[in-house]
Amino acid sequence: MPIALYPGSFDPIHSGHIDIAERAARLFEQVVVAVYDSPASKRLLFSTEQRVELARATLQHLPTVQVIPYRGLTVEIAHQVGATALVRGLRATSDYEYEAQLALTNKALAPDIDTVMLITSLKYAYLSASILKEVAALGGDISRWAPPLVVEALLSIRR
Ligand code: ADP
Repeated sequence: MPIALYPGSFDPIHSGHIDIAERAARLFEQVVVAVYDSPASKRLLFSTEQRVELARATLQHLPTVQVIPYRGLTVEIAHQVGATALVRGLRATSDYEYEAQLALTNKALAPDIDTVMLITSLKYAYLSASILKEVAALGGDISRWAPPLVVEALLSIRR
């Protein structure tokens, strides 16, 4: 069974991400969650170290899943870890256009790597890290969308 790379910003990791990681772990022998270091196009709340730390802590129940930070091309890190698949999560059809563009670009860059898109679980279909951060910043209850450690990290930024 192949190795999969699950790349993303994970700012911070939430239950929708964790659900995809758990499902990917059932499909692949090993899953490497790759936390993108400083995407130029995004303003991130947490540092790369914090995002990696939160991902490691919340995925520690999955022995075949490891978390690493990365920079540069996703397909390059995929090659470095021996991954033949990229895992991405799909929520609404609005995700599809961007994800298809990304998958086709990665395929052009690395024809030996395929993107596997897992459809979100219904209960996380509307969940995004941006919404999570916004609700947390406004003092709303986010405990149904993120593990306690992540809730605590978001609350401590608010304080
Ligand atoms: P990126 O900046 O690469 O989009 P994200 O951390 O936002 O990174 O997301 C990483 C991956 O997780 C993406 O494929 C995204 O579509 C997926 N994802 C995000 N939220 C959810 C969710 N609620 N359910 C399923 N997949 C999700």
